Amino acid sequence: MKAQKKDIRALTKEQLRNFFVSQGDKAFRGNQVYEWLWQKAAHSFEGMTNISKETRDMLEANFVINHIKVDQMQRSNDGTIKNAVILHDDLVVESVLIPTKTRTTACVSSQVGCSLDCRFCATARLKRMRNLNPDEIYDQVVAIDNESRLYFDRPLSNIVFMGMGEPLMNYNNVLKAIDKITSPEGLGMSPKRITVSTSGVPKMIRKMADDEVKFKLAVSLHSAIDDIRTSIMPFNATFTLADLREALEYWYAKTKSRITYEYVVWQGINDSQTDVDALVDFCRFAPSKVNLIEYNPIDDGEFQQASNSAIDMYVNTLERNGIVVTVRRSRGKDIDAACGQLANKQ
Ligand code: SAH
Repeated sequence: MKAQKKDIRALTKEQLRNFFVSQGDKAFRGNQVYEWLWQKAAHSFEGMTNISKETRDMLEANFVINHIKVDQMQRSNDGTIKNAVILHDDLVVESVLIPTKTRTTACVSSQVGCSLDCRFCATARLKRMRNLNPDEIYDQVVAIDNESRLYFDRPLSNIVFMGMGEPLMNYNNVLKAIDKITSPEGLGMSPKRITVSTSGVPKMIRKMADDEVKFKLAVSLHSAIDDIRTSIMPFNATFTLADLREALEYWYAKTKSRITYEYVVWQGINDSQTDVDALVDFCRFAPSKVNLIEYNPIDDGEFQQASNSAIDMYVNTLERNGIVVTVRRSRGKDIDAACGQLANKQ
């Protein structure tokens, strides 16, 4: 049986330097290879042109580069691009490039499938298979950065962890990926341009606050009333709104960073004045922004987008209470690339 080769990108720079020393080479060689792996996002050892053939063969014999393959691209008529991302074990996730006039945003996945059970989300119907590694998250970002340069003549400007999976249930790997994305040895992006979205895992929100992370936090709230939230996001029975709110208060006290809430208004579920009043009440403790996102139907007809007058009521009530609110139109709906539609359909 062939011995399992190690994923070279699981090594830290220090470990890579030590590896070269153990091979009788210079530690500096580790820096060179590290730069190829991350900054230059090399797919193979062969392309590492300043490394001798002998060393490249030695690396080949010991390691693999488990680079993702972007197999297929779908382009929406609004410019949105959806990537099917094939992993080294043939599992598939999706990531999305969302262009606007001035920005390119990458929406990336953090897990294969999802273990949460939001009733309105297509990804929830896929079993959670595994967490993504830091390099698999990083590769999605690099792929979209390349596409942005190719099709829109500009680099990627923003990243949202709003693809498949719950990023706070793969926290360590998400954090390692963000370290690479923000490091000058990786993509050198500002953490302020990165948003991690969570359905609300209180313990991990506290951990993020303790870790003093510099990226932004978004919470998929959808209801500030426990019974209603539990009926559409059943894990809310375990992670209740009171726990979530306490964790968010802790987050705000430590980071002074505004919290964004994602919120879909559905007919007959959360479209009454009582619902919006509860929302106002829930987010009063810290500067907040509410993104009202359009519902993207996922085939079963159980959920319907609320009426325009219900949306207007939300907007007016929130604004009257000093809460920033935006109404978000969906992007990439025609290719199943919009929020909640990622389900490896192809
Ligand atoms: N698990 C994380 C990351 C996924 S983000 C989280 O829940 O935040 C995906 C976003 O799309 C979440 O805000 C989610 O609530 C929202 N969403 C899921 N299904 C949707 C749908 N059918 N239409 C619109 N938004 C949806």
